[in-house]
Amino acid sequence: MRILEVNDITMRFGGLTAVDHLDLHIDEGEILGLIGPNGAGKSTAFNCIAGVHTPSEGEIRFCGEVINRQKPWTLCKKGLARTFQIVKPFATKSVLYNVMVGAFATTDKTEKAREKALTVLDTLNFTDKKDMKAGNLTIADRKRLEIARALATDPRLLLLDEVMAGLRPAEVDEVVGVIQHIRQQGVTIFVIEHIMRAVMALSDRIVVIHFGNKIAEGTPKEVASDENVIKAYLGAEYGIS
Ligand code: ADP
Ligand code: MG
Repeated sequence: MRILEVNDITMRFGGLTAVDHLDLHIDEGEILGLIGPNGAGKSTAFNCIAGVHTPSEGEIRFCGEVINRQKPWTLCKKGLARTFQIVKPFATKSVLYNVMVGAFATTDKTEKAREKALTVLDTLNFTDKKDMKAGNLTIADRKRLEIARALATDPRLLLLDEVMAGLRPAEVDEVVGVIQHIRQQGVTIFVIEHIMRAVMALSDRIVVIHFGNKIAEGTPKEVASDENVIKAYLGAEYGIS
């Protein structure tokens, strides 16, 4: 089943076209990677899908339903969750509290939210830090918290925006493992990632955008050897045959 269809969307900010007639889709159970140079429109595309922006043109469907004008909270309750590139936890509150905020998307019972949050923390090997203040976490753990908060909303489709930026190589490997584990639990994943090694290892398929427009799409191997992609983004050193 097509869990997400993005049909010919354009997003303009005044005179600037951030996303320009973009088409893409994700099948249920897939991990789709989205890559492209800085400013290519990746986060804007996510914001359109997650209901932060209403696209100027085009249509977005989630599980078959047109969702163009729906708000993030409504979409979250329907199973579409995202993380933000800039991580903003409630700094003075505990990790557990922060994750419970996510869990309240699916329940209004505190005890249920707590149970859900504890399950998610366990999945992410995060239980030992549940009582720490979010503001005292390392960058790697803030990223993990951001994933936990989104996961606690019980998504069918999870959008991850550069959750590995700023992490050390060993931490990147760990987050790759976490994302693979989340997929095994039946969550479809759409991931923006700059760290090539990670996005290549994770993705079933990759879409490459440049100036808001798709310039390539295919398996990691196909995309990495695509002339246009190498020119626009990867540089010669990443081209593999
Ligand atoms: P990426 O995530 O690929 O680095 P973005 O989607 O953040 O790119 O940005 C694409 C373009 O849209 C950039 O030129 C950026 O400055 C612009 N842009 C993004 N968000 C806004 C906004 N809310 N208002 C105005 N311009 C924006
Ligand atoms: Mg971005």
